[in-house]
Amino acid sequence: MNQFDAIIIGSGQAGGSLAGRLTSAGMKVAFVERKLFGGTCVNTGCMPTKTLVASAYAAHLARRAADYGIVIDGEVRIDMPKVRARALTVATNAREGVEKWLRNMNGCTVIQGHARFESANTVRVGEEPLTAPRIFINVGGRALVPDMPGVRDVPFLTNTTILALDRVPKHLVVVGGSYIGLEFGQMFRRFGAEVTIVEKSPRLIAREDEDVSEAIRQIMEAEGIHVRTNATCISLAPHEQGVAVGVDCTHGPPEAVGSDVLLAVGRRPNTDDLGLDRAGVALDERGYIKVDDSLATSVPGIWALGDCNGRGAFTHTAYNDFEIVAANLLDGENRKVSARIPAYALYTDPPLGRVGMTDSQAQASGRPLLRSKRPMTRVGRAVEKGETQGFMKVVADAETRKILGAAVLGTSGDEAIHGVLDIMNADATLDVLRWAVPIHPTVSELFPTLLVDLKPAGP
Ligand SMILES: Cc1cc2nc3c(=O)[nH]c(=O)nc-3n(C[C@H](O)[C@H](O)[C@H](O)COP(=O)(O)OP(=O)(O)OC[C@H]3O[C@@H](n4cnc5c(N)ncnc54)[C@H](O)[C@@H]3O)c2cc1C
Repeated sequence: MNQFDAIIIGSGQAGGSLAGRLTSAGMKVAFVERKLFGGTCVNTGCMPTKTLVASAYAAHLARRAADYGIVIDGEVRIDMPKVRARALTVATNAREGVEKWLRNMNGCTVIQGHARFESANTVRVGEEPLTAPRIFINVGGRALVPDMPGVRDVPFLTNTTILALDRVPKHLVVVGGSYIGLEFGQMFRRFGAEVTIVEKSPRLIAREDEDVSEAIRQIMEAEGIHVRTNATCISLAPHEQGVAVGVDCTHGPPEAVGSDVLLAVGRRPNTDDLGLDRAGVALDERGYIKVDDSLATSVPGIWALGDCNGRGAFTHTAYNDFEIVAANLLDGENRKVSARIPAYALYTDPPLGRVGMTDSQAQASGRPLLRSKRPMTRVGRAVEKGETQGFMKVVADAETRKILGAAVLGTSGDEAIHGVLDIMNADATLDVLRWAVPIHPTVSELFPTLLVDLKPAGP
């Protein structure tokens, strides 16, 4: 029996950094990873996809070169093997960096294999039982493959397998019009594929406000992407040209025929083959590990961090989980996950940067509101860059004068949103940001102006 002070399962965004803190505090740590070091973000998520988004943006800009007075003689062509190799290199370098870091970490024993609980303090990897009084689960998630009609009859792509493509599909049908589907849809359109995005909700990215969904639809359609919302009867069937995706039973063409289909309908946690029942760790009805505000599970001595606890679905939330657990265990702090202000980005072009409540959530809260919205056509930096799609908006509590939420769907929206995130984290009133003197010309410089323009907005 290998006795450790702590066992970490999974090298997601929390595990490695936690190993660093625990070993620095003198603990003997067993670190178990079954496949690729660095987890989803490094290997099949953020890093390769944002590298591909950058290639797609370069292609888009090259096609628009004449708008900027730049002459490109000849056609813009895509070298897909090279595009893919670039993404692979970025991911591989990062993965190797993580693995080297862990293997060279004093006090850390790296074990490769699938970990399963045997009891509340014992985990087995192959033949090897490991035991520790503290176990940290950072096993992440994987693409959800829904049990839709025909799914076993056709080849389909997921966010992982699509990264292996070194050809541009003739016609990519993307099932799922949310974050992952939109990023891949726009990217492959820019690589030259015909693209259809099929979404069962009445609008794209349905968790966002209606004006955001509508603007994103317009941005997609302006690039020639076909968007089918209200797709109530999604099914898959083999077709001589590839795959027929049944879309609608009521109106519009009943199917979208593509050469390839990408399923981007959500994620599921990697908790089904972890032996959690033997440890007595409770799951919710969707398979996420139940945690309290300090990320402790139902079993003392076991914590769950990252996507598997259902409290965040991002690299920065997984990393913050590490920060919370480490601060509470090692620094005597009382950090809580409920103190985290939600913030994230959608990496379409232009990107969507989001923080806090949506407008509709703010309205549902019943508070008296202030709202301000400005199209990117009235943002100098966007005009200068020739990238004026989208808008920025802020919603605030009229009584406390605190910002409740903001969205920047526009060029640099993923960066500019941090000005609002920082003010919200500082728990300052909007007047602090209103009197900031931002740098010109930037997208961020419009926040004070936006706040001057706030108007009462109900309820
Ligand atoms: C296409 C795509 C794009 C994304 N883009 C972004 C983005 O731009 N920004 C952002 O913030 N987030 C993005 N995400 C989400 C982000 O990747 C995840 O939120 C992030 O990786 C957090 O993961 P984690 O730490 O929970 O675990 P993961 O990174 O998923 O890692 C879990 C690890 O655990 C290992 N493991 C699982 N089970 C076991 C076991 N039983 N034994 C041993 N090892 C095991 C797995 O092999 C894996 O290495 C994206 C995700 C996808 C799919």
